[in-house]
Amino acid sequence: MSTALITGASSGIGLAFAERFSAEKHDLILVARDRDRLERVAAKLSKTHGISVEVMSADLAQRDQVDLVADRLSKSDTPVDFLVNNAGFGIREGFVDGDLAAEQQMIDVMVTATMRLSHAALPGMVERKSGGVINISSIAGWMTSGTYSAAKAWVTTFTEGLSHELAGTGVAATAVCPGLTHTEFHSRADMDVSQAPEWLWLDVSDVVDRALRDSRNGKPISVAGRQYQALSFPIRYWRAAQRRAEGALRPRFMD
Ligand code: NAP
Repeated sequence: MSTALITGASSGIGLAFAERFSAEKHDLILVARDRDRLERVAAKLSKTHGISVEVMSADLAQRDQVDLVADRLSKSDTPVDFLVNNAGFGIREGFVDGDLAAEQQMIDVMVTATMRLSHAALPGMVERKSGGVINISSIAGWMTSGTYSAAKAWVTTFTEGLSHELAGTGVAATAVCPGLTHTEFHSRADMDVSQAPEWLWLDVSDVVDRALRDSRNGKPISVAGRQYQALSFPIRYWRAAQRRAEGALRPRFMD
């Protein structure tokens, strides 16, 4: 039986990954800060599917707690076959007047933890010639919306690079780039998304179905939903065009 470690497994996309892996009879290691919530998920999934579930309560903005999860990932006697770096959050503020601690936490959780946990997990997977890392990015990584977009751009580019580096090893790396998805993400960040049209919204099952299919097919990037598959190219093109326009307007001291 293989094992999947999922960060941010207490709700939303991470919880949906946990449900899907458990239905496929993988053992689980669930990571998030809220231990009680993780214990409830663990009890339900182990009872329903007859799998073993470990719970690790960890704040992935704290380096020492990330290192404990990394230690678990690198244990060779109880190997982890799949890693899903999913924990993340948004903030509703501009950078200039924003809270620096919250900006730093976004980098710590979505960039530093993703990098360190991937580094802990991959050597064993490559040695065993099987496994996969799924990093949850966002279509926001193709946009220009503050530290969140920049962090997700890092996740996408990092994972595409990993996918190339891992070619031929039997191990896959896939960046999952969801658009608007029904989870707790927006309410936690106090974001008003009531004006977003219904056709833009995805269910977590759409995101997870597509992610697992793309990971199993060795694809470096996974975009769920026809609307976002169609939009992802114009979004990327729009950003390149925006950069060119900004280049034309850049301050003279940069010439
Ligand atoms: P969610 O329902 O709010 O879930 C976020 C998960 O991350 C929770 O399990 C939370 O658990 C965990 N988490 C947050 N901060 C953490 C920390 N410091 N340490 C450890 N765990 C932490 O939101 P979601 O939409 O499923 O988000 C999952 C991922 O999808 C994120 O990376 C997000 O950026 C990305 N995404 C979401 C959307 C969307 O529209 N929903 C779109 C694109 C990308 P605890 O609070 O218990 O720690």
